[in-house]
Amino acid sequence: MLLRKICIGIMLLICTVIYAENHVKGMRLWPSPESTRIVFDIDKGIEYKVYTMHSPERVVIDLRDTKLNADLSKVKIANTGIKKMRTGLHPQNMLRIVFEMEHKVFVNSFVLEPNAQYGDRLVIDLESDEKQAILALFDLDQKTKKTPPPQDFIIAIDPGHGGEDPGAIGPRGTREKDVALAIAKKLKAKINAQKGMQAFLIRNGDYYLVFRERMKRARSKHADLFISIHADAFVNKKADGASVFVLSTAKASSVAARWLVASENRADLVGGVSLKDKNDQLAAVLFDLTQTANFAASMEASKHVLQHLGKTTKLHKAQVESGPFLVLRSPDIPSMLVETGFISNPQTELKLRDHKYQDQLAVAITHGVKEYFKNKTRIAVR
Ligand SMILES: [Zn+2]
Repeated sequence: MLLRKICIGIMLLICTVIYAENHVKGMRLWPSPESTRIVFDIDKGIEYKVYTMHSPERVVIDLRDTKLNADLSKVKIANTGIKKMRTGLHPQNMLRIVFEMEHKVFVNSFVLEPNAQYGDRLVIDLESDEKQAILALFDLDQKTKKTPPPQDFIIAIDPGHGGEDPGAIGPRGTREKDVALAIAKKLKAKINAQKGMQAFLIRNGDYYLVFRERMKRARSKHADLFISIHADAFVNKKADGASVFVLSTAKASSVAARWLVASENRADLVGGVSLKDKNDQLAAVLFDLTQTANFAASMEASKHVLQHLGKTTKLHKAQVESGPFLVLRSPDIPSMLVETGFISNPQTELKLRDHKYQDQLAVAITHGVKEYFKNKTRIAVR
């Protein structure tokens, strides 16, 4: 009898070894002001289940036939809302990962395809409750500042990409998301030093926001201008120079622009969008109807910015270009996408990393913005 039990035990053990086919190979945490994103590096086709449990608040992830091939204890959980983390192997090779939370959270999960930096991933978004999220949104980046005078023009600065989405990666490994944030921070400071203008950052750290969320943040602060900052790549390593883009529903004008539109719009797929955002297609159609009036203003602002950039750096195209960029789809806020340079060009990559050069770009954009608002009066009610 005992021998039989041992035999069954050994057989189970062998089965366990044979059938644990999937692996969790790594984990990252990306805290943002309203939520925390957990990302697991996984094998393609992994079967999983995510659910919450209460008292204490927990998020439980069960992964079928999965082995843990990573040291999760090294992941820092400070400021993520996660109190404790534990893992265990359950019968039939089910890997269970439990996060003990400080507060109740809402979970949303989906898998992501490989991008320039990572392979297949499982994403778990932990969102604090909606009311808290909205409060945090309004508090974003304004903790020490008073509400700006109503006559001040508000400029939303959107550093492209972030978190799991590195954007383009230069030959030396420079990531577009870092360059974009560095330039955006400098631009914010330069604009805030001007009289009658107030700038704020759409993203103030290393986390990803979907396009719709970026636009929502600009609208919630009644922005008068939206500037998305990027530093992209092209197949041709010699491609060089800055460009400014506005939204158009037509096909992008040049080959490089078409490439750029495709890679920017793909960001939500590689950076992390869930099924929740599928309404964007419909929203986009509705937006298009009101977009025409906004186009002229976007064009005017872009021309000023491009002109000043041309005094500081080489331009890729002498005219403002256009393309169907998702992030520029706000119907009522003049918007532009500034491509500060091709990070794929080895010389430009070095310059984009240089603080002085970043400063020069920020000054040039500020001059352009200032000229656009010259002789304009803010009439919007805040
Ligand atoms: Zn980009």
